[in-house]
Amino acid sequence: MPQPKLDIAVDDEYELFLARRRRDIVARLCAAASRAGRDASEVGMLAVSKTVEPEAVLRAWRAGWRAFAENRPQELTRKLAFVDAEALPEMAGARFDAIGNLQKNKINQVIGKVGLLHSVSSADLAAAVSSRCEARGIVQDCLLEVNVSGEESKSGFSPDEARAAAESLAALPAIRVRGLMTMAPRGDADAARRAFSGLRELARELEGRTGLELPVLSCGMSDDFEVAVEEGSTLVRLGRIVFDPAYALS
Ligand SMILES: *Cc1c(COP(=O)(O)O)cnc(C)c1O
Repeated sequence: MPQPKLDIAVDDEYELFLARRRRDIVARLCAAASRAGRDASEVGMLAVSKTVEPEAVLRAWRAGWRAFAENRPQELTRKLAFVDAEALPEMAGARFDAIGNLQKNKINQVIGKVGLLHSVSSADLAAAVSSRCEARGIVQDCLLEVNVSGEESKSGFSPDEARAAAESLAALPAIRVRGLMTMAPRGDADAARRAFSGLRELARELEGRTGLELPVLSCGMSDDFEVAVEEGSTLVRLGRIVFDPAYALS
C-alpha cells in the first residue's frame, strides 16, 4: 500500500486533546441515547470543521472522526483539495457534508462532492439543485432545512411550507430527500427541545402524507446535542466542542 505523503508535523498535544474530547462526546451521546431508550448507534456525528485549518481535519480523522461538515462552498473546496493532495490514502472514505446557506450560483461547487446537502431551504433552491444534478447525471442526497422555531433570523421552510412542498420535492428527479434539518434557538434548552421534537413530529407527519422516507434528523450542535439526541436526532453537527480546547464541557 502506498504511504501517505505527509510531512505535517505531528502535534501530539492537539491530537491527544481531540481524541480525549471525542471520547467525552461519545460518552455523553451514549448517556443521552440511553436516557431516551435509544441505541446510540442510530446517531451519527459530524465534525463541523468550518473554523479550523485543513491540518486540523486530518488530526481529527486520526482521533476517530470520519465525517465532517462545512458551511461555505469555498472552504469545502479547500478542505477537499487538501484531503486529495495531502492526506490520501490515509483519509480515504472521509465524508464531507454541506451545511449552511447555499446560494444558487454556488450549487455546482457542492453537488456530487458531499454526502448530504443539509441546507435545502426553499422549493426554489430544491428545483435548482435538482436541475444542476440532472445536467451532470448525478443524484444528490439532501435534507430539507426547516425553521421549526419560527425565528425570523433563520432560513428554511416553515413547517407549513414543508407540508405544502413535500410532494413536489419528492418528485424532483435528481435530488433524494433523506430527512429534515433544523437549528434550535440558542441558549434556551426548553426552546431547543421543542424545536427538535417538532422536527421529529414533522418528519413522521410528512412520511405519512407522502411516499417519502425521512430517516435522517439533522439536529443538535455543541450546546444542545444531548437534548437533540433525547428528542430523536440521528445526526449531530458538532463544531466548537470538537475542535476548540477553550470550549468547556458543561
Ligand atoms: C457552525 C455550525 C454548527 C456547529 O456549531 P457549534 O455550536 O460550533 O457546534 C452546526 N450547524 C451549522 C449549520 C453550523 O453553521
